[in-house]
Amino acid sequence: MKTPLNILCTIIILLFIINTNSNAQIFQDDFCAHNDKFFRKKEKWHGNNQFLYDYIANYPLQNSKIHYRVPLTFWLYQDNEAKHGASEIDVKKQINLLNYYYLTNNTGISFYLKEIKIVKKTKRQTFGYFFEAPFVTSLNKKNGSINIHLVQSLQKRKISGNKILYKGTFNGVNKSITVVRYNAKAGLTHEIGHYFGLKHPHKNWNKGKQKQESVSRTRKKGNKLNCELNGDKLCDTPAEPSLSKYIDQDCNYIGDLKDNWGDTYTPVTNNIMSYQRYKSCRQIFTTQQKAVMLYNLEKNTNYNAWHISADNIKYSFDQFEPDDTKKLASKFFIDSLQYHTFHKIYNGKNRKDVSNNIDWMQIKCTQDDHQKITINIYKGEFDFPKMKLSVLDSKNKIIEEHILDNETSVKLELIKGYYYIKIENISQSTELSDYKIKITKSELEIKN
Ligand SMILES: [Zn+2]
Repeated sequence: MKTPLNILCTIIILLFIINTNSNAQIFQDDFCAHNDKFFRKKEKWHGNNQFLYDYIANYPLQNSKIHYRVPLTFWLYQDNEAKHGASEIDVKKQINLLNYYYLTNNTGISFYLKEIKIVKKTKRQTFGYFFEAPFVTSLNKKNGSINIHLVQSLQKRKISGNKILYKGTFNGVNKSITVVRYNAKAGLTHEIGHYFGLKHPHKNWNKGKQKQESVSRTRKKGNKLNCELNGDKLCDTPAEPSLSKYIDQDCNYIGDLKDNWGDTYTPVTNNIMSYQRYKSCRQIFTTQQKAVMLYNLEKNTNYNAWHISADNIKYSFDQFEPDDTKKLASKFFIDSLQYHTFHKIYNGKNRKDVSNNIDWMQIKCTQDDHQKITINIYKGEFDFPKMKLSVLDSKNKIIEEHILDNETSVKLELIKGYYYIKIENISQSTELSDYKIKITKSELEIKN
């Protein structure tokens, strides 16, 4: 959102930091620079967490049932020569991790790639928190998707001259996410949690009784529960201090802190929205956190396209995506069966959907002598789409090319090395089409 207020704030902040000393640098490497103090919206569950339990009862979440497919636009910041900086490989890794955490937590939410945009500008290698992040992320924005900016480093320069490096941030005004490319494990998942309305469980932990969440779950604030009104306002995330200084490598809480009422903290240490120093500790969303995310998804302006319905079957993506380029190729193992779809990508309101029509796969031949393999293409659940199958060697030389009108087997003889299979949908674009593929060793090859 390029509001005048946003631009004015940016100018003021710029003036504020312009004369600071840049010599000192603290490699604090903090986790998330998102400041949720400025966003105080009264929600239905504030003072009434039962609302969330009633709400989530509408969502069957067992067996990884998916209710939302959310498209992501990735902005990759590279140097002028495109030699350094975030790459497509980072995108694949980040989407895989994101889907892993959202699926294993049975959130009902999944993610697919809408588009990758590359920004070649050496000066953007260090992303400034105060000026650059809000400004650049307001300009670089694709509607209908969550915009994720993958940067080399994210730096907040304090008035004292100290610099603090962060792993990521969520901008509550323009709804953008910025994460550093070397962001371990659940870093992006945490920031997406902010996008869907989650707060840090330690919010206001160092404040007085008016704002601090009490350890006790039954402590009252007026006629409501303290844990429903203070901290992250969710009672199923225990009160906790910012964990970064109070956690060991095995994710044990090692602090001895008490809240303002004298009760000793007994935090869990595996919540994705917490500040654990060791990010592998981040594993779970609680039931109330999942309900908050689903509630906010229902209120999202893109609800009609992101929500899974009979009308939205065209957005069904497969588990090997993103695999639209050679760099994004998914690994293929002999004898495994892969199911792929050619689907539509939501492109924002009043815009035409985009087609996802190319799949890349990588195979590795390990034998020194010639290896005979067969690529078998089978019909999926829908009509067989007319496709073009190409096999390329690692030097991009096309060694096989076939137009496929029906289920087919293609025999190949390969020597040791990496090969790429490219499958393109060349039929007149339909809503959704699919196929299955299996690579086997040819019969001739079978030896004991
Ligand atoms: Zn955060």
